[in-house]
Amino acid sequence: MNNLRIIIIADQQEKILISEALNAAFQQLQITCYDNQHDFEKSVKLYNCDFLIAEESLVNRGFYTQLSPFLELTKIPLLILKDPGSQSFNNHVVKELTKDSDYLQQLPSLISQLINEQIAATGQNKILFLEDEEIDITFIKRKFIKLNPQYECDVVSSIADLRKQLGEKEYDLVVSDFHLPDGNAFDSIATAKAADIPIVIVTGQGSEKTAVELMKSGAADYLIKDKSMGEHMLLLPSIVKSVLNFKKLENYNSGLLEMLQTKNQDLERFAHIIAHDLRSPIASCLLLINTLQILGEDLSPDVQETMEMLTEVSQNMTNTIEGIYQYTVLDSQADAFVKVDMKKAAEEALQNLKVKVTECGAIVNIEPMPEISANYVAMVQLFQNLMGNGIKYRGDKTPELTVRSFKQADEQVFAISDNGIGIAKENHKKIFDIFSRLHSSTSQYEGVGMGLTIVKRIIERHNGRIWVESDLGMGTTFFFAFKAA
Ligand code: ADP
Repeated sequence: MNNLRIIIIADQQEKILISEALNAAFQQLQITCYDNQHDFEKSVKLYNCDFLIAEESLVNRGFYTQLSPFLELTKIPLLILKDPGSQSFNNHVVKELTKDSDYLQQLPSLISQLINEQIAATGQNKILFLEDEEIDITFIKRKFIKLNPQYECDVVSSIADLRKQLGEKEYDLVVSDFHLPDGNAFDSIATAKAADIPIVIVTGQGSEKTAVELMKSGAADYLIKDKSMGEHMLLLPSIVKSVLNFKKLENYNSGLLEMLQTKNQDLERFAHIIAHDLRSPIASCLLLINTLQILGEDLSPDVQETMEMLTEVSQNMTNTIEGIYQYTVLDSQADAFVKVDMKKAAEEALQNLKVKVTECGAIVNIEPMPEISANYVAMVQLFQNLMGNGIKYRGDKTPELTVRSFKQADEQVFAISDNGIGIAKENHKKIFDIFSRLHSSTSQYEGVGMGLTIVKRIIERHNGRIWVESDLGMGTTFFFAFKAA
């Protein structure tokens, strides 16, 4: 087995022993060593590695959790060196070798076996070379195909043949020369792209500019030709591995994205069902309680009180359902970003709160505010929730609210201040959590603890941040900020 790239996480002494054992067994072996998990995580690029070895005592649980999806996808083997007597992992992604007296002798054959199993599991990758010069074809055959029997390789010598061959057989990768009899690398890139196959360009045009152009037009990577010796072909295995693994990850990601979209649709459907199917029975309950109250004028005070409590509980439930519904559909609504006049959005929110404002005689001062790029409906909701809270948590004062905006560093900040009961410092984080309330449902403050959760979600969807300045009895100011245009 040639051209293996092995990554080892082990202490100094172990590293030397392993390196000696492996260098004696494999040709053109590349070993990269790390002393600990942290250094490994900081610097390692796993895409083109063939094999991973880690000493059990140097890695923790997070190591496996983080690596598992990648290893499962690429089938890169991970071998854990265990101390004699320690427990087995029982994890199908991880292979184990106990460090007993002859483990160094066992190591090379175990690595070969596991890599062969990996090849068998992933299937033989097929590579199509596009090269027209005899000497380069010889280099490809001698310095790549012969040394890397794990790949099934074919060679064609023109763009026309590339097109034909891709139509007849499936490939995992194309490796194309820059100059071709009937075109150049940009034509081969377009052809491979049309067939959704990654392509690597081998170029004698050693300039950065050409490389950038090639990558921009869709090449997965490039390799600079060594005209006289063909040594560049020895670098190709590592590029091939990283491109193939990258492609796998890309497919995996788009699979995840699709799954996420389906889940979101399910969630939205679920939210609609909850909203519809639960809202109407509660509404009926409220109606029935109301009827009972009218019919039973001479009911005892205890029964009257119980009925009032029933009404309140049902009302609370309706509010909770409404909150959950709003929160769930937030993520599935496409964010149409337009120029939003924030003063207008705040005024519309105030209009929606008119009944509450009139009830307590709240004084609300909305100062001039700029336009920002945002979702208009979301901005109205944001102001409505924050101003609504400013009015609700007023204590026994007449609420006085100020809504204003100012620029600070590279952000446009918006602030909603009130003169209400305030929020103790230790609760400043907690209040944004779902269903988090600082008052019981029997207190004078009704609510379900979703208003600020929705506010925070809206801000996150606008790439902004939100914070609060307040203390008990001191009034409250909520700030939110977006990067200034
Ligand atoms: P709700 O108002 O339904 O309880 P919110 O998520 O809007 O839910 O707020 C969470 C908690 O934060 C409230 O229960 C309240 O204790 C506190 N809070 C929010 N806004 C204010 C405010 N302006 N003044 C004082 N307390 C507030």
